[in-house]
Amino acid sequence: MNNFSRKGAKKQRGNHDRKACIAPLRLCGKILISIVLVILSSPVFAQAPANNYLFNDTHFHLTNYIQEGIDIHDFLKIMGNKAGRVALFGIPLQQQWSYRIDEDRGPTYYLNSDAPLYYYSFTDAWIATAYKSLSKADQARFDPMITGFNPTDMYAADHIRRVLRTFPGVFSGIGEFTIHKEFVSAKIAGEVASLQDQALDRLIEFAGEVGLVVLIHCDVDVPFAKPGVEPAYAKQIKALFKRHPNTTIIWAHIGVGRIIRPIKDQAALVEDIINDPQLRRVYFDISWDEVAKYVVSTPESAKSAAAIVNKHPDRFLFGTDEVAPPDQEKYLRVYEQYAPFWKLLTPDASEKVRKGNYERIFDEARRKVRRWEQTHVKGGSSNSGG
Ligand SMILES: [Zn+2]
Repeated sequence: MNNFSRKGAKKQRGNHDRKACIAPLRLCGKILISIVLVILSSPVFAQAPANNYLFNDTHFHLTNYIQEGIDIHDFLKIMGNKAGRVALFGIPLQQQWSYRIDEDRGPTYYLNSDAPLYYYSFTDAWIATAYKSLSKADQARFDPMITGFNPTDMYAADHIRRVLRTFPGVFSGIGEFTIHKEFVSAKIAGEVASLQDQALDRLIEFAGEVGLVVLIHCDVDVPFAKPGVEPAYAKQIKALFKRHPNTTIIWAHIGVGRIIRPIKDQAALVEDIINDPQLRRVYFDISWDEVAKYVVSTPESAKSAAAIVNKHPDRFLFGTDEVAPPDQEKYLRVYEQYAPFWKLLTPDASEKVRKGNYERIFDEARRKVRRWEQTHVKGGSSNSGG
């Protein structure tokens, strides 16, 4: 606003002679500017980003492996006008600080210690509380996710139901939770998670019933797999998806990781899922710098990834997988890493992967979960959640 008035003042000083003939125009301009400013300062526009943001973020961790992170109000500033909406979660696993093992070196990441990780359910209360501290308009920019359950436990679905009942109007999905993950799965205290666990079926079934989006991390293979051997989990994960055709599932990172390279037939595996009419509700997120690394590693790899996405633009979503980034530069890192890939997408595919698919999927989830809450939570849902 200051810029407008300062510029206006300068002009007034410099253009006395032309003043008379342009006065009506200036008046029109002033009225127009006032109208625009009134619109921009209305509550809707003040909080929601202008529609020129770069992306919606399907995959974002507000807290890290020791449940520390950034304040959600600070994160809103980091999102700025770059990220429109964000699927928000913590991390369901807590890295234990074992004095016997690590003495004074308190580990902050799972690779820092041989001490185990354990499921930390309080993360859901933490995320819900952060979300509820926001204004309604700011809440509309987030889709909080429930993650604090043990997917090997038949009671996992009951935890999700309890969280929905405790915090109605908040959550849109479950995840990111992990079944097989390099370096992580073997470190989790208790039973190793499995794609063939009844407990997992029970919780994915329940998510479908409620309308919760499922964001699942599961490596497609084991680390350092022998060449020529069938990828360890490709068949199992497809079978899991098949058992739940009515649940909306996003396969995080398309099953690749830091050292879990895309398998030789990764493209075929993805297309096989996409072309299966029973798996219409299965999507893929391309989050994590480790995934971007494979996509943009050579012009050929970027081209072949873009070819699949251009062919099936409705099935892929962008996400950052950032963990509590300290500033906007760090937050936009993965988006920028994908620059060569973005250039190869058609305008339609680019728009859908960066924004449109997120909106379609999470809008539907919000509607369904709020409806479920209205009939299953005592007194109905108080917050519309946008
Ligand atoms: Zn993640």
